[in-house]
Amino acid sequence: MEEKIRIAIQKSGRLSEDSLKLIKECGIQFNNGTGKLKSDSDNFPAEFLFLRDDDIPGYVADGVADIGIVGENVSVETNKPVHTVHKLGFSKCRLSLAVPRTVEYTGLQMFHNKNIATSYPRILSTYLQQEGIEAAIHEISGSVEIAPSIGLADAICDIVSSGSTLMSNGLKEVEVIFRSEAVLISSNTLSAAKQKILDQLLFRIKAVQAAKNNKYILLNAPNHAIPKIIDVLPGMKSPTVVPLAMEGWSSIHSVINENEFWQIIENLREAGAQGILVVPIEKMII
Ligand code: ATP
Ligand code: MG
Repeated sequence: MEEKIRIAIQKSGRLSEDSLKLIKECGIQFNNGTGKLKSDSDNFPAEFLFLRDDDIPGYVADGVADIGIVGENVSVETNKPVHTVHKLGFSKCRLSLAVPRTVEYTGLQMFHNKNIATSYPRILSTYLQQEGIEAAIHEISGSVEIAPSIGLADAICDIVSSGSTLMSNGLKEVEVIFRSEAVLISSNTLSAAKQKILDQLLFRIKAVQAAKNNKYILLNAPNHAIPKIIDVLPGMKSPTVVPLAMEGWSSIHSVINENEFWQIIENLREAGAQGILVVPIEKMII
């Protein structure tokens, strides 16, 4: 029988949609019927398991799944023998310490001998130890943000993305202790055949990510402006220069990075570029 890789993804939650989207962008089809716990792909040697996110590192460590997509926060907190293969760039959030809004925050020392409620005791205790703070960690599994108002704790350490949950519970964020995003994790003991499938998947993921970070641009310029325009365009390889039907003009094509995008467009206009077209890239194989 053909070897397949088992991929664990979150059944329903903040990782699910983007995980499924990534798999789809990698050209992997599967039937994700509602309520399904397992699904096969008919065009890639993979099988999907839909699980609670907290269980994913454990299942990967035990070999029930071979790889999985999970928040770095959960992967580090569960501390299972798995390794991070690749950062995926979505579900970005941070783990922060927060105190009641009415408390005047004067620095980390304030947490000495205090009670901190959290669902992340391991990450928090590592952090406090590094900072030389001795505090009591009160582990609770959910609704951490209400702990101070019911007298259970002086402060909390919880996931924050916009801060609105903290605000509506009368809390304010005072220290970021950990930054997280979704990661691809893998068992430490993959067979050679499965490792090969993982490499194929990773190749596709990288192509999808590179495409997202880059844009294809086309522009027209008088031939005398070409050297200046080429100077403005970043590395990759040299741009494509194609003569236009109009005498003395050319079309220039290149790929530019999202981060430097507007600056480069401005520089190109200054250098004499006209009719600039910017096109999204579907996949990029570097
Ligand atoms: P499950 O039912 O699978 O156990 P959950 O309720 O524990 O789900 P979610 O709230 O779906 O977990 O969050 C999953 C992961 O998404 C978190 O571990 C974290 O990495 C990330 N995450 C959490 N909150 C946010 C947020 N507000 N914005 C972006 N990412 C987040
Ligand atoms: Mg969970």
